[in-house]
Amino acid sequence: MIDLSFLANKRIAVLGLGRSGYNAARSLMAGKAAVMAWDDDAKRRETCAAGGMPIADPAGLDWSKMDMLVLSPGIPHRFPAPHPVAQAARDAGVPIVSDVELLARAQPDATFIGITGTNGKSTTTSLIGHILESAGCKVAVGGNLGTPALTLPALGADGVYVLEMSSYQLEITPSPVFDVALLLNISPDHLDRHGGMTGYIAAKRAIFHGARTAIVGIDDEHSRAIRAALAQGDGVKTIPVSGIDAAPGGVYVEAGQLIDDLAGRAERVADLGQARALPGAHNGQNAAAAYAAVRAIDLGRESAARGILTFPGLAHRQELIATIRGVRYINDSKATNADATARALGCYENIYWIAGGVAKEGGIDSLAPVHSRIAHAFLIGAAAEPFGRTLANRVPTTQSGDLATAVRQAHAMAQQSSNKPAVVLLSPACASFDQFDNFEARGEAFRTLVLGLNGGAEPHRGGAAA
Ligand code: ADP
Repeated sequence: MIDLSFLANKRIAVLGLGRSGYNAARSLMAGKAAVMAWDDDAKRRETCAAGGMPIADPAGLDWSKMDMLVLSPGIPHRFPAPHPVAQAARDAGVPIVSDVELLARAQPDATFIGITGTNGKSTTTSLIGHILESAGCKVAVGGNLGTPALTLPALGADGVYVLEMSSYQLEITPSPVFDVALLLNISPDHLDRHGGMTGYIAAKRAIFHGARTAIVGIDDEHSRAIRAALAQGDGVKTIPVSGIDAAPGGVYVEAGQLIDDLAGRAERVADLGQARALPGAHNGQNAAAAYAAVRAIDLGRESAARGILTFPGLAHRQELIATIRGVRYINDSKATNADATARALGCYENIYWIAGGVAKEGGIDSLAPVHSRIAHAFLIGAAAEPFGRTLANRVPTTQSGDLATAVRQAHAMAQQSSNKPAVVLLSPACASFDQFDNFEARGEAFRTLVLGLNGGAEPHRGGAAA
């Protein structure tokens, strides 16, 4: 747990007692701050109170006497409408901060690497963590991914924090936290929470506040514009990265090879065809960004390349669950928007595709270029009907309703396929919450269903699907 005793005796409200908020409240209590914790969910309040946490309804607080509001990133503080507590704090001029902000203030001598982008954050964050760990560095990985910031170990001056940052977290992290900041890509997502695309882009861009090295993906127009603007400024070194094109002065992928042009010598450093957990051009972008990040803190080229090749991959991201009589069953439950799904569809052919859930703005209109790779679509959840309309006359579809039915139907059809080797791919292009608690639960359900299929699925061990 991170020592927050520098906040002793400060009056601090904590709103939202999920994993990050709960741990923030506990760390603040251990640091002897005067904590007033709250969650709109009565059950959660009761559980926290039973564990000794001081619960106080912030609606009744005199905000002129408060020093800080620690807000959970899931709680809106501006759009679509601010939570009334966030509004009251802002009206009184009380700083609204995230747990990452507190970690940065508590560990001022450590090195911080921050990763954001619409897609690829978790992969790139854990890849950087893996490279640094394999090279023997003192490193802790967390933030939006996995471990909440304040439960990470205290690393001190020779440690490196690698933190995945959502756009929500960036909005409530006002300090210049990151020495090395990465923006992978930007496509429309979570627009309701940021008041539109301009707000979303501004939130993402905030990761570069105070950074000495800015690593920017140049494979989409919004990120390219940010890179151009950053390159005009002083004091920040800007490194372009790409999974599809040459990036002079940066790191990129060419014919499956990772190219280091940081010193203008365009040297091949790794054959990404050997990196089994990083299939596709999108993962080329992730690998290039991770490589640039570890080089920016002076890790050697060989160590950086070795770490990329030995990365075991993450669950729910193009994760190969099983191969049954030549058909591969792939879990890409984390693909919660069309852009992410486009990447997965682009990696395979003869795809029996399971999609649906709660659609994002724009639905799956953008997937037209990869329609030819889809043999049949099995649609589930709230988006099934609108997706069916989008795909009508282009892709054969079945309205499956739920995941169990979709897996059964996709399995039956894929096993009959006489074409090239077939793939059953869960890549929903949707949020999961109409039928599951979260994308992990959806991916685990897929895993269980596949492993229970008639035909004796043998579980695949370790790694994503190349
Ligand atoms: P995030 O944490 O940003 O949601 P993940 O690394 O968990 O990203 O990947 C989520 C999904 O996004 C993956 O399943 C994959 O299909 C897709 N994806 C991964 N990296 C990228 C990228 N660089 N660009 C576009 N899509 C990507």
